[in-house]
Amino acid sequence: MTFSDTNALLRSIPAMDDLLNAPWAAPFSGSLGRETVKKIIAEVLAEIRRELCSGVPGSLSADCRPIDELAVSRAVNLLRLKSSSTLKPVVNATGVVIHTNLGRAPLADEAIHAVNAIAGTYSTLEYDPEQGERGGRNVHVEWSLCRMTGAEAALVVNNNAAAVLLALSATAQGREVIVSAGELVEIGGSFRIPEILDFSGAKMTAVGCTNSTRIQDYRSAITENTAVLLKVHPSNYRIDGFVKSTSREELAELAAERNLVFMEDLGSGLLGPLGVPGNFKKFHADREHSVRECLLAGSNIVTFSGDKLLGGPQIGVIAGSKKLIDKMRTHQLLRVLRVDKMTLAAFDATLRLYLAGRQNTIPVIRMIELSKPVLLERARRLSRMLKRTAANLHAGDFDIAVVETEDAIGGGSFPTDLLSGFGVAIRGAALSAETLAAGLRAAPVPVIPAIREGRVILHIRTLLSGDEQLVAAAFSYAISRAAGD
Ligand SMILES: *Cc1c(COP(=O)(O)O)cnc(C)c1O
Repeated sequence: MTFSDTNALLRSIPAMDDLLNAPWAAPFSGSLGRETVKKIIAEVLAEIRRELCSGVPGSLSADCRPIDELAVSRAVNLLRLKSSSTLKPVVNATGVVIHTNLGRAPLADEAIHAVNAIAGTYSTLEYDPEQGERGGRNVHVEWSLCRMTGAEAALVVNNNAAAVLLALSATAQGREVIVSAGELVEIGGSFRIPEILDFSGAKMTAVGCTNSTRIQDYRSAITENTAVLLKVHPSNYRIDGFVKSTSREELAELAAERNLVFMEDLGSGLLGPLGVPGNFKKFHADREHSVRECLLAGSNIVTFSGDKLLGGPQIGVIAGSKKLIDKMRTHQLLRVLRVDKMTLAAFDATLRLYLAGRQNTIPVIRMIELSKPVLLERARRLSRMLKRTAANLHAGDFDIAVVETEDAIGGGSFPTDLLSGFGVAIRGAALSAETLAAGLRAAPVPVIPAIREGRVILHIRTLLSGDEQLVAAAFSYAISRAAGD
């Protein structure tokens, strides 16, 4: 490109005012405000100017439209992107029930109503109307938690990572925490036991080997500066073969004998037994222990998440000894990690479903307990629906069939136990699985599928009520997109 070519192109960049006052810009001013629209258009124009001046054959030369048309199309794209939230509902067709990237547990209706009732009004969050004075935000859930777990006391914070941090800070700052080398786990790429321990101001003493830790290893590591024996649920992995870990009964006994705290990071937070275990492949009921079982076996403190197996909002619970938890109630960290009113409302309503014995209406529990005949029936229905969608669009050849799937609980629970389920597999004659999946994800309500052996798989288990219609809409969107219209 010569100097004069570049100059001519630069001169053809439209003026800001022309763009800002164009009819297509008006709705964006309504949603974003005129000043923001102006700033976004300025960004687009500056970018085009930069590309022209740098002279590198970049996207501009590949895009041989006139500059003014290009500026409008880029501005509209960027404005459209910024006009709506990037946080929006999706359909989870992955078959992973507790999917951390997709927001873990969808809330029960009762929990949603409770959030609605409290969000737009003043509340008793930290106020006791009977006494007419300040109250505590923890009281709203403590009694139900104690009732459901058998704990003497309970305290809630932002998430389980925060629960572990607070519990360790309050009991082991400047002192030693003994943990098995096989339990120094990382969860979700950001929660690492050694780092949380370090952050809490405790000193970590790792004992034993990756696959074997005996009670004697803990015993010999105890010094006069030891405060805590810590057991961590390995959550997202499992060692097969020769494995020796120490039972919580042995650890509880040793802790009591040496006047130490026995703390357990349980992770998933099962409140009661799950039903329909016949549904599990390779299922071992003894792999996941309820909070109550851990406390009964002698754990002084148990920490767990509210949005994993419990099926509530993101929250972290510390349950156990009143004496220890009273120390945490006055810790400065609690102020930093405290929970907001909407979360407390959702959590309280979820716990009340357990109290009422209606936990099988909680979406996560309901999905885990879905039986194969029900899943098969729903898979057949979805399959018929998608075949009709393809036929109505006169979309070429699609092989659509009901298939067996292996679903997962996720969220670090039952890491190697899979649930057998059903799904709908789609193979397009002229469309790769990757392209079809990308089309489903690009739909107005994105559908997140799995891909297996060159086919897109839509797992039925994790579809919520009404999701079938959204899947059909996304399928139709993906077909049109691939056809280029
Ligand atoms: C999931 C998990 C955590 C982290 O909990 P968040 O609620 O995500 O903060 C910590 N420890 C264990 C064992 C877990 O399974």
